[in-house]
Amino acid sequence: MDSVAEETSVENVGEPVVGSSPVKRQVGEEDDELSEVEPDAVPQEVREWLASTFTRQLSTARKRTDEKPKFRSVANAIRAGIFVERIYRRLSSATFLHLPPEVTKILKRVDEWDFNVWRLHEVSTNTPLRCLSYELLNRYGLLHKFKMPPATLETFLTQVESGYQKYKNPYHNNVHAADVLQTMHYMLSQTGLMNWLNDIEILATLMAAIIHDYEHTGTTNNFHVMSGSETALLYNDRAVLENHHICAAFRLLKGEESNVLVNLSREEYREFRSLVIEMVLATDMSSHFQQIKAMKAMLAMPDPSALDKAKALSLVLHCCDISHPSKEWTLHEKWTKQLLEEFFRQGDKERELGLPYSPLCDRNNTLVAESQIGFIDFIVEPSMGVCGDVLDKVAALSIPATPTISEEPQKQLNEPGGPIKRPVRPSGVVGTEVRRPWQDYLAANKTRWKERAAKDAEVRAEMALGHKNVNGDLEEENEEDFIKEEEDKGANENLEEADKEEESAE
Ligand SMILES: [Zn+2]
Repeated sequence: MDSVAEETSVENVGEPVVGSSPVKRQVGEEDDELSEVEPDAVPQEVREWLASTFTRQLSTARKRTDEKPKFRSVANAIRAGIFVERIYRRLSSATFLHLPPEVTKILKRVDEWDFNVWRLHEVSTNTPLRCLSYELLNRYGLLHKFKMPPATLETFLTQVESGYQKYKNPYHNNVHAADVLQTMHYMLSQTGLMNWLNDIEILATLMAAIIHDYEHTGTTNNFHVMSGSETALLYNDRAVLENHHICAAFRLLKGEESNVLVNLSREEYREFRSLVIEMVLATDMSSHFQQIKAMKAMLAMPDPSALDKAKALSLVLHCCDISHPSKEWTLHEKWTKQLLEEFFRQGDKERELGLPYSPLCDRNNTLVAESQIGFIDFIVEPSMGVCGDVLDKVAALSIPATPTISEEPQKQLNEPGGPIKRPVRPSGVVGTEVRRPWQDYLAANKTRWKERAAKDAEVRAEMALGHKNVNGDLEEENEEDFIKEEEDKGANENLEEADKEEESAE
């Protein structure tokens, strides 16, 4: 088969792995006693057995990462670019899924940090995840590479999308999944991250984003644990939802009619599964600080190969998952509203069950602006900072060198809607540094929330004194007017309705 021959030739253009020996890297990456064992002290097979039995990583899953081609020179870059283009030409003659023209138009901007996923949601008539997943799997050449049967892909994506709509969540739904997928695509294609990855790793990264909240219940892990749900019982209160997302998605992938991985080799499947599991489990927010700390320690090491690929990708996915405060204000504000509504619904359930309110879940007592400022200050900004540092390091490792004069830089860049070439000098890299479009947005959004927080505080103070209505409008209200208003309300509506209106006006 010619594609096999081509693949081999591309693998051959890579330089041999330099630095630490494959054996040392394979086991030494795990944070445990195994790293104390001298590389030559035990035979390779025994080390692999030790690694597969006593660490979380499967030895088979790590093997291929060491065989990866390293693209260091411009010549290699161009040769590999030609290879990907050749693949794409074959693929483009057989377009599987038909995307409506309005969707195709929106998707032309899919490489941008400012991509409006809500717009895609509208024009795709509530199938943003299916359309975007198809588009990206195709553009990365993965449909062809892994011979995904078109009808199977269609079934799989449709089922995934409907799994996201199962509980009608305001936030954790198919639009959020599409948002995280698009953000991950930005990271892969615009920062040079994909140059560091093989095809299976790219597939796993995209798929992890696609399924990372599959069948989300719209409630938190804490709620599952506190209410003693079936899922909490099943997963022993540990990463309850994340375990479910992964398990349910892989169950779907086992179904004959939706198994898009049917043509992966056993080894490819193991590698894919191991990466997806690690990445999605790391979206459990309770592992956030641990993750950031571990990554900072890894970045501080002088040896660039110390950067663990699965952990780096996990951190990037985690960052994409919490990235909405680093997007344009209208998008961020909308996500905030959706998330708060989801929290409030959980609060309603907690009240029904006689459970204490989880933080931010009480409709009547939530400081929206303050919560977002705290979220940005303590979680999102530090995370995105570390993410940027990881991407800088990866770019230094894997982006082709500066172009020579004879080369036209534009030809190395991806065209909107075209196949994604690899490796590429990404537009999101200036010199040796990855551009960080999220920084300005984070700062601007924080300023807006601070203004709003100040205003809210003012309103609350005024309300306490009885000088303002709930909308914050100053009122020259005397006591008589106030009493009359209350009487009118009582006459026309029941009290509960009035409460609701006041809340929505807030
Ligand atoms: Zn998520």
